[in-house]
Amino acid sequence: MIELTTFFAADERVQVYRPGVCAEQGRYVLYWMQRAQRGQENHALNVAIALGNALILPVIVVFVIAEYPAANLRHYHFMLEGLAQTARHLARRQTPLVIRRGEPARAIVTVAKELQAAAVISDEGELRTPLRWRQQVSEQLTVPFACVDADVVVPSKFFPKEEWAARTIRPKLQRLLPTYLQPIVDLETQHPLSSPPCDPGNVENPLNYLDDLQIDRSVSPSPIYHGGQDEGKRLLHRFMTERLTTYNVQRNLPEVAGTSELSAYLHFGQLSIQQMAWEIEQHVPEDTGSAQIDITGGRAAYLEELIVRRELAINFVRRNPNYDTLAGCPTWGQATLRKHQDDPRPWLYTRDELEQGRTHDELWNACQHEMLITGRMHGYIRMYWAKKILEWSASPDEAFKHAVYLNDKYELDGRDANGYTGIAWAIGGKHDRPWPPERPIFGTIRYMALSGMQRKMDTRLYIYQVNKLM
Ligand SMILES: Cc1cc2nc3c(=O)[nH]c(=O)nc-3n(C[C@H](O)[C@H](O)[C@H](O)COP(=O)(O)OP(=O)(O)OC[C@H]3O[C@@H](n4cnc5c(N)ncnc54)[C@H](O)[C@@H]3O)c2cc1C
Repeated sequence: MIELTTFFAADERVQVYRPGVCAEQGRYVLYWMQRAQRGQENHALNVAIALGNALILPVIVVFVIAEYPAANLRHYHFMLEGLAQTARHLARRQTPLVIRRGEPARAIVTVAKELQAAAVISDEGELRTPLRWRQQVSEQLTVPFACVDADVVVPSKFFPKEEWAARTIRPKLQRLLPTYLQPIVDLETQHPLSSPPCDPGNVENPLNYLDDLQIDRSVSPSPIYHGGQDEGKRLLHRFMTERLTTYNVQRNLPEVAGTSELSAYLHFGQLSIQQMAWEIEQHVPEDTGSAQIDITGGRAAYLEELIVRRELAINFVRRNPNYDTLAGCPTWGQATLRKHQDDPRPWLYTRDELEQGRTHDELWNACQHEMLITGRMHGYIRMYWAKKILEWSASPDEAFKHAVYLNDKYELDGRDANGYTGIAWAIGGKHDRPWPPERPIFGTIRYMALSGMQRKMDTRLYIYQVNKLM
């Protein structure tokens, strides 16, 4: 007899949503894969396998393809490319994948009954919709259910309150990193299964599901980024060998390919953040025979973004229910914006004009077009992009809405804690401080000017590069 809470008591990543004894008549352990969309380096899958091994049962992985708010053809294409690879990786681990269509909670509860699951394990998510799904599954299942915080380095449970800024979460993370920044060892199932005892769905070619989805098809798949763990790992390797050394000096130059371009792979859980951070931490540059390469600065700067900034964003979204509106921003930020709400706007654009990149600012239009075409905008210019939306919108609330709409619609990594936090930072001063002197429209929210961008980066080269894509 295995009781879930007792069985996982020592694993800080596991949160038991529905406690109880695993069903004695159960025939499988079900892993509902939702956020951690990978067949390897997946702690949630390992937890399911550990439970299966203890119960002497095989594990079956279930993925439900649902219509997710604001996701469109671009996102589904990337996700399903990744799922095809996940199916192959799982087959190698003799842990079969079953794909279902429809409303996730209902689908999971139905499959659990159909397959006589002894227990259901899932991964963890911080956004509103996936959290609601988990809540519904927990209420409707009749067997125990637990979720595993598999897409952060340090489990989120250690940050039960909303953190004020990077400087407040950083020391707490640093204290816990020696315990949690460890490589992931894939667990072997002791009860292999080559195929599930039910219709597996189209695991051979998940992209076929695209035809059946009720989604916005106006945003085409990215011509540059392709989904899947193998592709993510290829880009990670490229980053470590070609860009990590200079990351600290080049990361704010959008005209230079200096960052990792991995946020979409992290968003869809195709890469494990924990494994990735471990590999960066352990990376030793190849001996080139010439002067020794120093990666200390690049590595520290990268781990700051990858762990501190990303886990701060996850903390914000998890602990603040207003994460995607101005109401989630600090009081001082909201107050200063309200004070300047009626300031005249020298430039005012509709959402359509912004969406099509038709403003007076050539640099802004270029970054908007980069996002429209490729599904990605460089991180440095994203800050400028959002601040100009504030400057050119009728109100800060409208600016916030426009930024969320455009970011979620076109960015491959959109609909993510990082996105809501980045917008809240740029527009509402989240995790920032007041920046006097007070200015029109912005009040004391940090301002970014075109002239500043022209000083810091080669804007002409960047615009030329984007124009070449069009
Ligand atoms: C207005 C605005 C909107 C943003 N929207 C998104 C979004 O929708 N999705 C998204 O993932 N990121 C978003 N960011 C954060 C950041 O710009 C991107 O994560 C980064 O540009 C992704 O490119 P990269 O993988 O090459 O980053 P790298 O510079 O290589 O960084 C490595 C990883 O660290 C994390 N990271 C980097 N910068 C940040 C940051 N500022 N906050 C939190 N995590 C960070 C990301 O996971 C990223 O993949 C936004 C930032 C702003 C200012």
